[in-house]
Amino acid sequence: MASSSDPKSFPGSTPSPENDASTPNKNLVQGGPEWWRRTFVYMTGMGLTEEEKVKWEADYKAKKAADDCKRCEEWKEFSLNYSPIVRFMQENIRKLGGNLDRSNILCQPCDTMRAGGFSPDHGILLCSNYMMGKGHAEDTLAHEMVHAWDHLRFKVDWSNIRHHACSEIRASSLSGECRWTRETFTRGIWDYTAHHQECVRRRAALSVRAHPDCKDDDHAKKVVNEVFDSCFADTRPFDEIYR
Ligand SMILES: [Zn+2]
Repeated sequence: MASSSDPKSFPGSTPSPENDASTPNKNLVQGGPEWWRRTFVYMTGMGLTEEEKVKWEADYKAKKAADDCKRCEEWKEFSLNYSPIVRFMQENIRKLGGNLDRSNILCQPCDTMRAGGFSPDHGILLCSNYMMGKGHAEDTLAHEMVHAWDHLRFKVDWSNIRHHACSEIRASSLSGECRWTRETFTRGIWDYTAHHQECVRRRAALSVRAHPDCKDDDHAKKVVNEVFDSCFADTRPFDEIYR
């Protein structure tokens, strides 16, 4: 029989047979002295060998990545089934001869902090490790779908920073990510309009900042401002800004 300090029987790892429900180890009941010791070791890493620590951290990361992906897939599935804006965009992309569905909308961990991305060759990426919730997944999908629609409809040259800025303005404005919040609701419609435009400008500039030709934050803001009026006014394929 393995000793009770066997690291393999730490909470969270696969229980060893002598600790399963059929042969309960009284020492390991929740709150018991051995349970406390192990939980403490587990949380602080104190008392773990270097090798155990590396393994524990790797197990933890793998578990988190798997959990993130599972949640992301659930939110993606929800949006594809029930989100009016995502279904509307999917339908309009289909009308232009494109197709975005489960097969090319992928949940994956991203190494830079962002919510998602669109690639004309691969489809849409949802960054599972930066997805905050169901609503965030829905906004991100809608945002990337506006890029996809623009790509098909306007033959966007993504290497042109002004083209990129224009699509970012439309994606931020139309996706709902700058929607009317409770905070602005209490301040009335004119504040809403100002808030929405300010939010769209700010978010579009953040995205344009990542363009290879962008020199700095001021350059990003300048390009966004230059194309703002005409791109913001173009709400196609919506009749107006979707709220
Ligand atoms: Zn974007």
